[in-house]
Amino acid sequence: MALIELEGVEKRYGELRALKGVTLKLEPGRIGLLGPNGAGKSTLLKTLLGLLTPDHGSVKVLDLDVARSPFEVRARIGYMPEGDSVIPELTALQFTSLAGELCGLPKREAIGRAHQVLHYVGLGEARYRKLGSFSTGMRQRARLAQALVGDPKLLLLDEPTSGLDPRGRDEMLALIVDIPQRTGASVILSTHILPDVEKTCDQVMVIAGGEVLYAGALAPLVASE
Ligand code: ADP
Ligand code: ADP
Repeated sequence: MALIELEGVEKRYGELRALKGVTLKLEPGRIGLLGPNGAGKSTLLKTLLGLLTPDHGSVKVLDLDVARSPFEVRARIGYMPEGDSVIPELTALQFTSLAGELCGLPKREAIGRAHQVLHYVGLGEARYRKLGSFSTGMRQRARLAQALVGDPKLLLLDEPTSGLDPRGRDEMLALIVDIPQRTGASVILSTHILPDVEKTCDQVMVIAGGEVLYAGALAPLVASE
């Protein structure tokens, strides 16, 4: 089974070609999406989610066509968007269980799952605290918990380490390595930091100027340095 499969994917914002005919296929695992700012990383993640519709080409996630089965695809993906926005008035537990309910879990189950994933990301003791009082690292872990609560088969993390201090970054990277072992989910980690990919991933997509320059195993890329 392919985790993701893109064929000739084009996406324009007005005149700007953000994705220029991307074709690639990757197996399940831990995948780095590596490229500089403006390369098209967020755009690519949003087309996998079905949040953006390509102007041309086809996108399959977990062997499902995103255009034909948007809800099935959405239900299998956990998404942590770029940035660190949270709802400051909510407790970590409310924030996470709300996302569970939006995934379609009954309230009681959503709360149960929220307790579990908050414990997993190291926020068990802080779960009744409001997000407004959290450090950046804690906020990012709460956002990760939110992405995990629906038990996704694929986790899309858009620059999850940006703005974190070295310790916060290491905590986040450790979770990214552990999640697939623990849950069987695949992870796509968008970043502009090669060492973060080297520490966590087994496959990589290198993207620049809307073109994917390489997609495959990490080893050849690192060995050629
Ligand atoms: P909407 O999609 O609701 O119009 P956006 O915030 O996406 O709102 O866009 C607002 C405006 O800013 C649009 O003209 C869009 O083209 C532009 N814009 C948004 N994000 C970017 C970006 N990352 N780079 C360049 N222009 C952007
Ligand atoms: P990355 O995530 O790698 O930083 P993006 O996918 O956000 O790249 O952006 C790719 C290109 O598309 C950039 O040139 C960016 O300014 C532009 N862009 C992104 N979103 C919009 C938008 N809503 N409207 C117009 N231009 C956008």
